[in-house]
Parts: sequence; structure tokens; C-alpha cells
Amino acid sequence: MIKYILECKNKHKFESWFSTSKEFEKLQKKSLLECIYCDSKAISKSIMSPNILNKKEKKTKNEDNNLKKIKKDLNSLRKFVENNFEFVGNKFANRAREAYYDKKNNKNIYGITSDKEKTELQDEGIDVVSIPWIDKDN
Ligand SMILES: [Zn+2]
Repeated sequence: MIKYILECKNKHKFESWFSTSKEFEKLQKKSLLECIYCDSKAISKSIMSPNILNKKEKKTKNEDNNLKKIKKDLNSLRKFVENNFEFVGNKFANRAREAYYDKKNNKNIYGITSDKEKTELQDEGIDVVSIPWIDKDN
């Protein structure tokens, strides 16, 4: 299917679908095309070509792939963190402080902080890295 933007002699523009470009030419020759606004039969193709539409579709596809890749990367990041870090849940801020001030206890941890806690930790010179966390199923 090809979508054309059609234009009548009165400059009305409307979209129409054709199975092939030949079908459009056939209908045009037989004056079977009609403006949906003024019933004019003087119809021509507008500037927007099917090529432009195809390009747009391609771009969307690439964006989908990029999104998939980002999700995949985030999933591997999540796996890495889960395997190498200790999950401390809501106690993250406390545990991060313990780890920071007690150098012997310098474990890698991950957990949940509020923005306020995160700012406080950073003010104390504790490195906190936020990573986007995505659901495994998503
Ligand atoms: Zn018209």
C-alpha cells in the first residue's frame, strides 16, 4: 500500500491509499479521483512522496532498535550489580556512610535512596551513582 497526499485544483489536500502507484495513475487518467472537500476531479499528487514516508518509517525502526539496545545494556548492568553488589534496600544511605567512614568495611552496595539522601551523601563526599533500574520483564 502507498499513501499519497493528493491535491485538487482548489489546493485542498487529503490523504489517500493505493495498492500501487500504477493504481493511482489509472484512477487519475479515468478521472475517478475526487476531492473529498469540493468534489473536484482535477487531482494531482502533492509534494509529499511515498519515499519520504518510507524514510520516516525506517527512522522509527532504528529508534526501536536503539531502545532495545539500551534496555539490553541496562539489563546487563542490572545483572552485574546484582552479582557483585550487596543489596541493602532502603538502608542504602546508612550503609553507604558506614562503608565510607569504616574503611575496612568497603563493600560494594546498592539500594534505594531518596533524592534528599543522595544529595546528603554527595555533600559528605561519598560517591553515589544513580543507574536507571528497569524491570526485567519490561
Ligand atoms: Zn478540493
